[in-house]
Amino acid sequence: MKIYVSGLYCGTNPQPGVGIARSVRQAYPEATIVGVEYSNRCSGIHWQDFDDIWLQRPWEELNLDAHAKAVRKVLDAGGLWISGIDLEIMWFGDIFPEGHPNLLTPPPSALKQVAKPEVSAHKGLPVRIPVYVSTELSDWDLHAFCRQNDWKVWLKGPYYDAVSTRNWSEFQDMRHRLSSAWSTQKLFLQSHVTGYEESVCFCAYRGELLGAVQMRKRDLTEMSKTWAGDVTEVPEEYTEALRKVVKDLNWTGGAELEMVRDPNGQLWLLEMNPRFPAWIHGGTIAGYNLPGKLIEGVTGFKPQEILEVTEEFTRVVLEVPVRGDFPLPPLLEPFAGGIGHSLKHPSGLLGFANRLHAAEANGNGNGNGNGNAEEELANVPASFIEDIKGVKFDDVQTPSFLFLEKTAAALFERAARLSKKSSTDDIQVTNAYSMKTNPDERLVRLAYDAGFLSEAISPLEVHTALQNGFKPEQIILNGPGKWWHREYLPKTAIHAVFCDSVADLKRVVAALETGELKSKIAGVRLRTPNIPSRFGIPIDTPEVFSTLIESIKLLPRACSFGVHFHMASSNVGVGQWWHLFESILKWCGSIEALSGRTIELLDVGGGWFPDDWHEDSDTHFEKAIEKVREYLPHVRQIVSEPGKALAQPSMALAMRILEIQDFPGAATDVVVDGSIAELPMYFFYPHRILHQNSETGAWKTLGRGRAYLLGRLCMEHDVVASNVGLPEDAKPGDLLVFCDAGAYDRSMSYVFGRG
Ligand SMILES: *Cc1c(COP(=O)(O)O)cnc(C)c1O
Repeated sequence: MKIYVSGLYCGTNPQPGVGIARSVRQAYPEATIVGVEYSNRCSGIHWQDFDDIWLQRPWEELNLDAHAKAVRKVLDAGGLWISGIDLEIMWFGDIFPEGHPNLLTPPPSALKQVAKPEVSAHKGLPVRIPVYVSTELSDWDLHAFCRQNDWKVWLKGPYYDAVSTRNWSEFQDMRHRLSSAWSTQKLFLQSHVTGYEESVCFCAYRGELLGAVQMRKRDLTEMSKTWAGDVTEVPEEYTEALRKVVKDLNWTGGAELEMVRDPNGQLWLLEMNPRFPAWIHGGTIAGYNLPGKLIEGVTGFKPQEILEVTEEFTRVVLEVPVRGDFPLPPLLEPFAGGIGHSLKHPSGLLGFANRLHAAEANGNGNGNGNGNAEEELANVPASFIEDIKGVKFDDVQTPSFLFLEKTAAALFERAARLSKKSSTDDIQVTNAYSMKTNPDERLVRLAYDAGFLSEAISPLEVHTALQNGFKPEQIILNGPGKWWHREYLPKTAIHAVFCDSVADLKRVVAALETGELKSKIAGVRLRTPNIPSRFGIPIDTPEVFSTLIESIKLLPRACSFGVHFHMASSNVGVGQWWHLFESILKWCGSIEALSGRTIELLDVGGGWFPDDWHEDSDTHFEKAIEKVREYLPHVRQIVSEPGKALAQPSMALAMRILEIQDFPGAATDVVVDGSIAELPMYFFYPHRILHQNSETGAWKTLGRGRAYLLGRLCMEHDVVASNVGLPEDAKPGDLLVFCDAGAYDRSMSYVFGRG
């Protein structure tokens, strides 16, 4: 019996070859085991259970035709082949479309059904698949996916690699790296599921399930790979479903279903790998020798029994002698730049993936596209286009901010309608426009006209509000800097003041007593528990909580009492924000009970991404008000403080193309007269971009593509957009309009590089 085993990498993200060899040796001590590798850097070639090593050139240099012939020869001669390399298994699918009796890998039709991320083969198994999207979507939609999943997302490569990306710049950076490494834009983003990881590993021959075992990870490496685990029988219900899946797929070879069990016991399928896992010998130790069972299924030879079994296994690091005929290669040159991927796949798997891609694409261009098909993907609201069409661009000195008047007015009106609709006889729902987000007087006046309150973080902002029509009783004063330019504080009572710290509270109390500050409501801003913040009074230990309670008792009885909290849902995600909202309500219940003050005003702050605030806001608000009524029966007013939810869509930045430099087959560098000085939020969220055809005047949104928009500043990081699809007919002098620039892009833009 001669068995070929490939995939012998033994680093911290190991391949299963060595584990398979150990298990085969245990079952068939007399068998000849040949280790197959594509790099002499894979330390597994030195493992003692291999009787022989068949070392190939690395994948990117390998003569694939010759290798295919050689593999066919050993299979025809009776050798069995167990592959531990996903890409080799895919390649075998091409070489042996009808399979080979001695090739123990799944057929191409089955591989298609277990491809990431939609493992369609899971039907019938008691598992669900976490939500995911392809990164071929527009950046706008990808950012929305991340917010909706609380930024607990994984960016995954087509075969290997999964990185968690916690914010937009991390996402952009990793997408660029993975896309270049795997030469594809087809990555995907998947929602994280919190829980414990477990696997079901099985083996089958021609659609017949030969054996299965379940393993729970009990210790992990830094990369979340198994370091120790416990091994048990697969529950009957699961096995039944699995048997059917295996039959339907006509599976041959090993496989692993990687899953997470959430706190409710639900299993989520992350991946189905078409091979044995690297921990496979852990199963053998526990009495389930699946490689042995696989060979028995093919050959009919009885494996040797396992005498001593235990339910748990762990890993150790071992030193083994290097084979005399394979001396160690020299270490890579120190400046080879081989961080990350190339070190992880010493056998040139990345290069091989690229060769497979090229074959798949069939000479179909360079896979970089110009984004033509996707141009319409990023949806720009019709009112943007209408407003932009109204601009006389001949008079516009670019770069320049455009005020989208109709868009802005509609946003404020909608917000006002919504709050009116949500209000009830006993609870009034009100908006307060956050001045700092963009103090442009056109926006401040829209807020005033729509019946908003004004939310200010300094007396200077109070002053601007008063200048634009607001009355003192329509002002909410917030933030840590409310005593800066105190000479602008109004003489009559404002609506509410919120204290940002205990020190601030003492100062507010003093000012209220002397009459320097007059306010109908005085309250506190709570620091969010569990989510780090520099603002507000902390509440999450008994000591600080009792300090808070004592301080609240200092607030004059003449003022009503209110509570404010603020955490940007655009950063922490929508789900997490609502979770926080409920938890704050519970804290507020305790504050009422312990301080003896009832909460009449609840102010929930701002920080919403425009789309999140507007989407389903009716139903969300209704539910929120119900909750407030349940936990805080004395609340008479709920205030939200939208800033960017209203301001961000209200302005756009116009710029012109200065120069286009095409690198055929690679990138297109486009220099524009705008820069990150006008788009400081570039690093935090994507902007929808429009291009005007200079002949027809038609506007088009830019899809994904291979263009980089480089700012006019002579600064390395002045790149205002990456991977966008510029229309073929774009020319220097053409207009580009960056939408979604009306909030902090506008207010935080700085004068730079203008001479
Ligand atoms: C900045 C701020 C807001 C508005 O935040 P956005 O992110 O612009 O929506 C609301 N309330 C307070 C207290 C703020 O400081």
